[in-house]
Parts: sequence; C-alpha cells; structure tokens
Amino acid sequence: MAEKLYRKIRKVAVVGAGTMGSQIAAHIANVGIPCDLLDILPTELTTEERANNLTLDSPAVRNRIAQSALDRMKSAKTRSPFYLPDAAQPIRVGNLNDHAAWLADADWVIEAVVENLNVKKQVHARIDLHRKRGTLVTSNTSGISIRSIAEDLPEDYQECFMGTHFFNPPRYMYLLEIIPTDKTRPELVEFIVDFGERVLGKGIVRCKDTPNFIANRVGAFAIMHAIHLMLEAGLTIDEVDAITGPPLGRPRSATFRLGDLIGIDILVDVANNLYECVPDDEQRGLFRIPDFVSRMVEKNWLGDKTGQGFYHKRPGERGSEIWTLDYNSLEYIPRAQIEFDSLDAVKRIPDAGQRIKQLVNSGDRAGEFAWKCISNVMIYAASRIPEISEDLVSIDNVMKWGFNWEIGVFEMWDAIGVPESVERMRSEGHAIPPLVTNLLNAGQRSFYNRAGGARAYFDLGTSDYREIESRPEVILLSDSKANGKVVKSNADASLIDIGDGVACLEFHGKMNTIDLPTIEMMVEALDEVKQNFEGLVIGNHAVNFSVGANLVLMLQRARNKDWDALGRMGRAFQDADMALRLSPKPVVAAPAGMAFGGGCEITLGADRVCAAAETYIGLVELRVGLIPGAGGTKEMAIRCLEGVPLDAGGDPFPHVKRAFETIAYSKVSESGAHAKTLGYLRDADKISINHAHHLYDAKQMVLSMAADGYQQPQPRMPFVLGEAGLAQFKLEIHLMRRAAYISDHDVKVVNQLAYVLCGGKLSAPQFVSEQYLLDLEREAFLSLCGEEKTQQRIEYTLKTGRPLRN
Ligand code: NAD
Repeated sequence: MAEKLYRKIRKVAVVGAGTMGSQIAAHIANVGIPCDLLDILPTELTTEERANNLTLDSPAVRNRIAQSALDRMKSAKTRSPFYLPDAAQPIRVGNLNDHAAWLADADWVIEAVVENLNVKKQVHARIDLHRKRGTLVTSNTSGISIRSIAEDLPEDYQECFMGTHFFNPPRYMYLLEIIPTDKTRPELVEFIVDFGERVLGKGIVRCKDTPNFIANRVGAFAIMHAIHLMLEAGLTIDEVDAITGPPLGRPRSATFRLGDLIGIDILVDVANNLYECVPDDEQRGLFRIPDFVSRMVEKNWLGDKTGQGFYHKRPGERGSEIWTLDYNSLEYIPRAQIEFDSLDAVKRIPDAGQRIKQLVNSGDRAGEFAWKCISNVMIYAASRIPEISEDLVSIDNVMKWGFNWEIGVFEMWDAIGVPESVERMRSEGHAIPPLVTNLLNAGQRSFYNRAGGARAYFDLGTSDYREIESRPEVILLSDSKANGKVVKSNADASLIDIGDGVACLEFHGKMNTIDLPTIEMMVEALDEVKQNFEGLVIGNHAVNFSVGANLVLMLQRARNKDWDALGRMGRAFQDADMALRLSPKPVVAAPAGMAFGGGCEITLGADRVCAAAETYIGLVELRVGLIPGAGGTKEMAIRCLEGVPLDAGGDPFPHVKRAFETIAYSKVSESGAHAKTLGYLRDADKISINHAHHLYDAKQMVLSMAADGYQQPQPRMPFVLGEAGLAQFKLEIHLMRRAAYISDHDVKVVNQLAYVLCGGKLSAPQFVSEQYLLDLEREAFLSLCGEEKTQQRIEYTLKTGRPLRN
C-alpha cells in the first residue's frame, strides 16, 4: 500500500523503438507522461541521408530509428497509437549511445528490444549503468524467462525488475501481463498493477514466470493446433478462418488472418521457443512448425509486413483482391466463398456461448472441426493449471483481453455443458485434466457459479468454489441483475439500481439501436430517477454504446409514406432527449465504442459525459442523407456559441460554420479526447481510461454533481443568425459543390442543415427557444426522409455497411 502512495511516475524511458516500444511510448504519452524513446545507432546511411550530405555522426542519423518510428506513428491514417495528434509532444527521441544519461531521469524504464535473451541481457546491463537506484525496470518480452534476463545484475536491479507484457497494439489491446520474479519487491508489483489499471487503463493479469506466460502459451497453442488440425482434416485456409472466427466467438481475423497480422516469423519464433522450453508439455508436438509454414518463412512470406503470408492482396479486375495460399502447392488461389449449413445456422445467434454450443453439436464438417478445435484448447488450458496460473479466471481474461475472444475458454466450456462435453472427450480417447475431474467428482457442473449472488470459480487447490473478488470500481450490470437490482426493463433497455442512489439506463437491443422501446424506457427511467434516485448514468458494457436510430424501421416507414409514425417517433425522441436535459436529477452519459447518430444525440442530451478513452462518437446522419433529428442539430447550434461573446464586434459565423462542418462531414471522434476537440464533449466532461471502471467513474460523477447541490437546468435561449447566416452558408455550399466535395443531393441535405443551424429565415440574428429549433430540425428531418435519394442511401448502408454517394 505504502508503495502506491509514495512512488510517482513522472517520466518513462522506453529502450527499443520497434513495433512495440514506439507504441508503448505513444500510450505513455497518451496519458500525459513525458517519455524518452531510445534505440541503437544505424549502421548505414539511407539514400536520402546521403543525398543530404549527412554522415553516420549527424545527430539526425544517430536518432533516426526512434525518430522514424515516431514519425510513422504520427502519420498513421487509421488506428493511430495516439489519442490526439499532439499527444506525441511529450516523446523525446534519442539513441542509447548519446543519450544513455537520460535513463537517470526515468522513474520507469521499459525495455522492448528484439526477442533475444543475449541482446536483452546486454541492454539491461547498460540500463543498470545509468538508472537511479530503485528505479522500476521492466521487460516487454513475449515469453523469455524474466528471471534469466536480469540474473547477472545486482540485487537491487533484480528487486526492481519484472515483466510488463503489453499486447499489440498497446493503445487498443486491454491486456497487460505482469510477470514478477521471486526477487521482485512485492510492493513494486502492487504499484505497477495499480498504475497499469488506473493510469494506463489496462486489464492486468499477474503471471508466473513460465515460458510465454499465459496469453501466448494458450494463444499460440490455439493457433498451432488449428493449423495441425487443418492439415489432418484436409480443410482449406479459407474454411478454417470461416469456422474459427466469429462462429467461435473470436474476431474475424480468426486463425490465419491473425497469423498474417502477428507475422509468421514471430509465430514461428514463439512456437519454437515453446517447443524448446516446455519439454514436459504433453502436447508439445503441436508446437512443431508444419513444413509448409517453414517454407513460407524461407520465401519471406511473413504476412502483412512482407505483403504476403497465408493471404496475398493482389490487383484484380475490380480493384485489389485477396487470394489465399493453397498449402499443398504453395500457390495463391482466389478466395473461396465458404458455405456450411452449421455456420449459416449460427451466424445470427448473438450470444457467443449459445452460438458455439450449437455449432459444435451440429455434426457437419465445420461443426466437427470447431469441436476438435475448442475441445483440445479447453483440455490444454485446464491442464496448465496450476503450471501457468493458479486460477482459471486469469486464463479466461487473457484470451478475452489479449486475443479479443468474446468469451474465455472456461466460460465457453460452461456454455456447451461440462458433463456432456467431458463424456464426448472421453469417448474420443482424451485424458481429462485434474481440474475437470475434481469439478465433476465434487458433484459440480460448471467452472463458474453464482451461489449467493457473488461470482465464483472452481479452484483446483481447494476443489471448491472461490469467490471472485468484487471491487467497488468495477460495476458489472450482470451482477446487479443477478442480485435483483433491475428496476424496469423492456426488450431494448433496462433501468438498473447500481447502488448509492444511482440508477443505470442500459441499452441492450440489437447493436443498441434506438427504437420506440428504448425511448419509452428513457422516459420511464427519468420518471423513476426523479422519484427514487440521486441521479442517472446512461451506459452499458456492449462494444458499442449505440449505433444510432433503427434505420430498418425508419426506411420501412418512409417507403410506406407513414409520415405520422415517423413524425411521432421523431417527436418522442426529441422530447425524451429534452427531458434528459431538463431532468431535476443529474444525468451522466457514458459512451464507449461507437456512439453514432441517435447514440450521440442522447450523449449530447446528458448534463455531463464520462466517455471511455476509446469513444468513437459522431453525428453521422448526413451519410444516409439525413440531418440529426433528435436534438443533435439543435444542441450543436447551441454548443458552438457557448462562451462566444455575442456583443457587437464578434462574428459568430465561424463558430456556427464549425458545427456545420462537423455534422456535414459526419465527423467521428477517434478517441474520447478527440471528441472534445470536435465539440461533441465539453471541458467539464471526463474521460474514463479503464473500460472496466467506466460505469463506476460515471456513477462518481453523478454522485459528485448531486453532492455539489445539483440544480435542475432551465430551457436555454439559443442565439441564431437567421437570413444573415443562411446567405453565408449559401456561398459555402456553392463552393463545396463546385469543388465536387458534395453531390446535388448533399446540397439539398446540407441546405437543410444550415437552415436549422441558423434558425430558419429570420430577418435578423436573435434569440429563439430550444423548442423552436427542435421543430425546425424535425421538419427538416421528415422532409429528407421523403427524398428518394435519402431512402436509397439508407438502403445501401443497411445492405453494405458503407455510405452511398448519389
Ligand atoms: P521490433 O523488431 O519491431 O523492434 C525491436 C527494436 O529494438 C528495434 O528498433 C531495434 O533496433 C531495437 N534494438 C535492437 N537491439 C537493441 C539494443 N541493443 N538497444 C536498443 N535497441 C535495440 O520488435 P518488437 O515487435 O517491437 O518487439 C519488441 C519486444 O516486444 C520483443 O521482446 C517482442 O517479443 C515483444 N513483443 C512483441 C509484440 C509484437 O506484436 N510485435 C507483442 C508483444 C511483445
């Protein structure tokens, strides 16, 4: 405990500016901590450096490795390692020869050099020469023994040393494995666990110092096993990826696409390392590299980094095409459309456990393969307890947090039924691991249970259930539900008591689209909160807070010319959003993932926002030929002028134009921090860095607002520019059309947008009521719903997920 209090990380140094080191530095900078990024000296000049008369002694050349890594990250077009472009600012680049003295300033040195024990040993010996005594030093190795890296160094070094295994890409992957040795000071471990969770926002799993720790041991096994199984069953790469992706609750990258992403050389290194280091592993043979994979490495077909691997993107008749490796001929063949009845039957089952259960019991080739794939991974994982982990929860967590599996190995096993599956395994000749036989011998049927309301897992050591420690900062709505805390519920949303007088409005419909039941529950929730709670959080645990209004229904109504129903729905949504805004009790929206369209409008309607660090929020209605119609346009019209002096001399137009552009270009934030710069969030809104703490953080905001004497907001009088603003927008829109940024139909849509933002054709700038703007907004929205080209856009987006330019 004391360690948590006095230790402070004011500065970090990362040694090794490759894929991982540079991105770890970026994430350290994301949380506002200055970070030095150091690499080795280049041994050769580039053509460009030669042309610029630089030499190997020029500082620009000497720092080149770290500098180019930083430049690459700054210019990343998608999935930037940075929350914001200027988040890179606290990173200082250098090289270990000239800047080793910088290590003395660091409170935490992270080594992320190549995966080679000798190189790592040399680097740590060098760090030891410069670091302050007592400085925390960690290695980001994927699987080398942590103890062996520092074993030759002084006692103080070993006491301050452990493994911190980030996953790629560090900003986005939640898992951080912490690997202490028997020498590491326990209080330092507690400190880094706390720091990793609260400051870096990571999901921490403590590991033993065993080869490849937990995630890469089980994860590498799952991949290698699937490859061997494919060869045995004679399936193709396309077939295996079709089976081992979403049908098994795993990401679309499945097995081989994931291999291309990781790098096939890395996969081979990891498997070889495991083969060497786990001589007693009963399934060690599966870490042997199949012949075709070794030949791929010889040919430098290493996956994405060399342009081809298990898949190859190549020019085709209609743009680029993905071809798949035929592992017999080592030639690429056109990607095949995979059809299995079982896959078709399960694809619409939202619950991963039910989906997997149906698939493995389906009896066709895909079902058989899926069963073999997961049953052996389940047996392997269970056999690794207590070797790699004392508890099964850690194994489940690493697979969810490090490999994005929807459910963990043991959660999956529970879902398909432990006794039935064990019977099937036995009949197929598998040996059943002690964890599982103990469970069945104890008369139990599942790895997890919820006796007495608390979640517990089956513990090998005691052959009994052990409670999973509940922590105040982790609010699980499933726990609240299991404990009878649901206040109200319908098909799309529920109101749940999350304690201390705070309720949570959870959306849980398909993709959390907003529909009439959602709106009804919003209204009922506000009513309930007004009577019986201190305040309301609007949040959920889904990947996406809400993808917006239900476009399927909207299109149906528009095609049927059911304007009454559309109008009623629009009005109800606007009223509910206004009721949120004017609630007598504080309301905090907690968006995470996508908060699009209606999801964004609900967020804008709350008093305050507690956004997850990974929040992609935006008013994207223009993409489907509409404008925000549930208060979003009105809210942006108001927000863009907040704090802007409206007396003579100031020109409000540039501010209104900014709101116009945000909506017209359907700008979506690339992080919670970015949402502030787009004007979707205000300064008083907060960012919650750890998604497991998100609802707790939002709840704390509600409680502190209530404690500060929350006063019910009053309706505002927005200032609008009227005709004067419209005339300026007319010119802007004309220029946008002339530059071919927008189509004729876009012109129609953005004219409506400008009309609402300016408050319509008012002869002079003036203050109007919120309701006046809402009425304009609703009318514009309805008229656009009647446009054929808007309907075509909605239909196209529903079919393809992409916007249509018409
Ligand atoms: P990389 O090859 O991309 O980068 C390694 C960097 O280390 C290079 O920039 C290299 O110049 C530098 N380096 C080599 N020797 C050095 C020395 N003596 N002093 C300073 N710098 C030196 O490797 P990477 O993928 O970033 O992996 C780094 C570490 O992270 C490895 O231990 C790896 O196993 C681990 N890791 C990698 C991933 C991944 O997906 N790439 C994921 C988790 C962990």
